[in-house]
Order: sequence, then structure tokens, then C-alpha cells
Amino acid sequence: MEDINQETVHRHDAGCDGHGHHHHDGMHIHPVANNMKVALALNVSFTIIEFFGGLFTNSVAIISDAIHDLGDSLAIASALVLEKESERGRTATFTYGKRRFSTLAALITSLILFVGSVVITINAIPRFFHPEEVHVQGVLWLAILGLLFNGAAVLRLKKGNKSSLNQKAVMLHLMEDALGWIAVLIGGIVMYFTGWYWIDPLLSLGIAAFILFNAVKNISNGLSIFLQAKPHGIDEGKLLNELLAIPHVSDIHDLHIWTMDGEKHILTSHIVVPADSDITLMRRVREDVLQKLKNLNIQHPTIQIETSMETCRFTNC
Ligand SMILES: [Zn+2]
Ligand SMILES: [Zn+2]
Ligand SMILES: [Zn+2]
Ligand SMILES: [Zn+2]
Repeated sequence: MEDINQETVHRHDAGCDGHGHHHHDGMHIHPVANNMKVALALNVSFTIIEFFGGLFTNSVAIISDAIHDLGDSLAIASALVLEKESERGRTATFTYGKRRFSTLAALITSLILFVGSVVITINAIPRFFHPEEVHVQGVLWLAILGLLFNGAAVLRLKKGNKSSLNQKAVMLHLMEDALGWIAVLIGGIVMYFTGWYWIDPLLSLGIAAFILFNAVKNISNGLSIFLQAKPHGIDEGKLLNELLAIPHVSDIHDLHIWTMDGEKHILTSHIVVPADSDITLMRRVREDVLQKLKNLNIQHPTIQIETSMETCRFTNC
């Protein structure tokens, strides 16, 4: 079994262009996926520890972070399951591929976090005005444990493939989480010496605000993708001007731009050339337009070349 695995790994390393090839599940060893699995296992187990730890210490700050880590676990799990799937390209049913599965998973995760942070806030506000005693030593131990878990996950990911954008994002996020734990640690130390238990709901509200801010941002991004909005970072006016500047392009209409998942952008348009253009000129214009669109980060353009003599039904579409 070991030999078969080794053999497959070598073949895979030699032949994988990372695009459109077929994967035999369970035979490949993907270091990125393995590191993600370890990070997921750490996150899930720590989420459970936090939920019970939060109840035991009577700390709403710890419960808030448990909600946050639940969201992280969902995000890592969906990345692990869907990242490979979304790169496989078209299928008979999903002719654009399955990239939006990841977008949908991120949207659902954000909605869960949105509800979670609202529930935290509703519970933390009364606690701020009527503070309850918190088992501070327990909170301190959990904060130290949290930092260790976070640190372990970061180190584990650092060893892996550095070119994976997703992995970079996860690592950056884990470092943000470590900062949250440092805040809880400092708050815990202050509570230990002063007995100011209102610090606990204050930390909780801070964590909830952080979760809410990111959730709202991600929900807004996800919805604009599903509603076929123009992708962020694409300026339609600038794009139009650059295309009109191409030699022999006299007009452009029926221009539509949307994005599969925020990274792969799709464009369709009609390009008008002078009435006397021959097939060679049309071909050159088409190549120029496609090259320009590639430079403008449009990965999936579809264009139709027309002459100014033709009447088009889609001039105002
Ligand atoms: Zn592969
Ligand atoms: Zn996090
Ligand atoms: Zn047209
Ligand atoms: Zn149209």
C-alpha cells in the first residue's frame, strides 16, 4: 500500500498542472489538504472545549469566541471539501463548473455567524450592567490554551504550500484570532486583580462586533456575486474606453460583466467594426479585444463581432 501511494505521488507531482486533470481520491497525497485537516481538527476540538469552558467559567467572552471558532471550523471544512471540487471545471450539469459551491458555503457560514453574533450581543448587554462572577482562573487557562492551539495551527500551515492563496488567508485569520486571545488574557489578568467582572461582557461585545463586521461584509460580497453584480475591481467605464481605443473598434454594446466567485470574471459583448472590414481584420480585432480583456483580468470573455452595416436587436440590452 505504501509503495502504491509513493508511486502515485511521484506521478502526480510530475504531471499535475493543477487545472482540469482527474484526481483519484484517496490515492493522491496533497500536503495542503493534510495541513488543512490538522487545522480543522484543532479548531473543532477547541470549539468544543470553549463551549464547555465558557459554561463552566460563566464567561460570555469565552462563549463568544466559541461561536467565532465554530465559524472558522465551518470555513476550513468547506474549503477542504470544496476547494478541490471547485477547480475540476465543467460537468454535464454545471457547465460553468462548481466554483459557486464555495461562494454558497461562505454565504451560509456568514449567515450562521451573523445570527451567532446577534445572540451573543443580546446575552452580553444585560451582563454588562449586572455583572456576574466569572471563574477568572479558568478564563486565563483557556486563553493560554487558545494561544497554544492558534500557534500550533499557524506553525502547521506555515510548513505547507506557501503558494496556496486560501491557506495564506487562513493563516492570516488564525493570527487575528491569536490577537483576540491576547485581549482575553489581558482582560482576565485585570479581572483577576480587580474583580471587575464587567470586563468579561465587554470582551464578549468586542468579539461579537468583530464577528458581525466580517459576517456583514461577507454576506454583502456573497449576495452581490449571486445577484450577478459587476465584480469588485472592474471599472466598466475604464474597460469600455480601453476596448474602444483598440484600432478598428467603432462601437461596443450589449456589454455584461459578472463574476463566478469573485475571482473568475465573465464578460459578454458585441464589438462593432467598420462595414468594409474583411475576415482578416475581424480576426485581428477579435484577438486584440481578447488580449485586452485578459490583461483586464477577465478570464471568461465571449464576444460577437458585427459590422456597422448590420442592425442589432441588442443595442440597448
Ligand atoms: Zn492534483
Ligand atoms: Zn477565527
Ligand atoms: Zn449587437
Ligand atoms: Zn444584453
